[in-house]
Amino acid sequence: MTTPAYAAAEAKAPLTPWTIERRTPGPHEVQIEIRYCGVCHSDIHQARAEWGGGIFPMVPGHEIVGHVGAVGSAVTRFKVGDSVGVGCFVDSCRECKPCRDGEEQYCQNGMTATYNSVERGTRTPTYGGYSTRIVVNEDYVLRVPASIPLDRAAPLLCAGITVYSPLRHYGLKAGDHVAVVGLGGLGHMGVKIARAMGARVTVLSTSPSKRDDALKLGADDFAATSDKATFKKLAGSFDFILDTVSAPHDYNAYLGLLRLDGTMILVGLPDQPVPLSAGPLIMGRRRLVGSLIGGIRETQEMLDFCAEHDVASDIELIPIEKINEAYERMIKGDVRYRFVIDCASFR
Ligand code: NAP
Ligand code: ZN
Ligand code: ZN
Repeated sequence: MTTPAYAAAEAKAPLTPWTIERRTPGPHEVQIEIRYCGVCHSDIHQARAEWGGGIFPMVPGHEIVGHVGAVGSAVTRFKVGDSVGVGCFVDSCRECKPCRDGEEQYCQNGMTATYNSVERGTRTPTYGGYSTRIVVNEDYVLRVPASIPLDRAAPLLCAGITVYSPLRHYGLKAGDHVAVVGLGGLGHMGVKIARAMGARVTVLSTSPSKRDDALKLGADDFAATSDKATFKKLAGSFDFILDTVSAPHDYNAYLGLLRLDGTMILVGLPDQPVPLSAGPLIMGRRRLVGSLIGGIRETQEMLDFCAEHDVASDIELIPIEKINEAYERMIKGDVRYRFVIDCASFR
């Protein structure tokens, strides 16, 4: 099926209209008519080859929601018309320990990413959600609860699960004090989800203009990181720091904000390494950890949790023609708080 898309023809090239072929669904596959696709900072890192390499032309997009348009003969979990989502990966080996444990994102044989990857078997490139349809094995498709507006659900498929998974894994408890660093797509979901888990939340941001929004999103407090006094005033305050920043910055300064045994979780993935001192880790027995998205089972759990707690993303809906402008605004931190592509704009 010939399908309109937007692609970066080569690293750093602006995205332009392109056409891709989507296959007819196989017996276990679901064909999804994409309604909305969120714009993740990882799309920018990859379209600009900031993490090294990339498969071009590249059609980014891994926060995909839409309706089932067709199902293969052996599909049991979905029917035509269902509201569904696809996140950052569309396949994995299914045999290694992480896959068997439902942590497919850590597949030891490499997960098949939704884009900028190659399909198992055929080795053909995968193309993401900046398009109008996608075909995915039903085991890698999520069910979007009816109570979440579809456009505001899209960012949950990456931003939502990326913050939900480590807060669960590292044992956030009600009453814990969490700092969310960077109020962008991941950060604003971090505020909402940590709050829904019963935490007290402080936003640490380079943008003082985001203060009112942070409080409206549910944060208890806001502090500007441009103000050096912030690092003195809040020293030793937090049980967790959730660092969602997309650019290199000084981790050492933030580690000092953790209390004894506190945990700093890196989810932001800057393109450059940052020097780390042992001091702030040793003094206070602190932990610095990372986390990658979440598995299929946990992503479904997160979607159901968001439905139960009335959590959805705050979005700015854009037509696909505005994608390059959206990238530039995100790089400047000018995002409130997730761009979502209205895929009707492809027609
Ligand atoms: P985003 O919407 O662009 O938000 C990033 C925020 O970081 C900005 O809004 C800004 O917030 C802050 N920031 C930007 N540049 C900064 C700088 N130089 N110094 C300090 N703060 C800065 O990005 P996103 O989509 O949330 O993604 C964030 C990062 O997470 C990206 O690196 C992305 O690749 C990564 N990511 C990782 C995973 C994973 O599985 N681990 C999944 C998805 C994305 P303020 O204005 O509040 O300072
Ligand atoms: Zn993402
Ligand atoms: Zn595996």
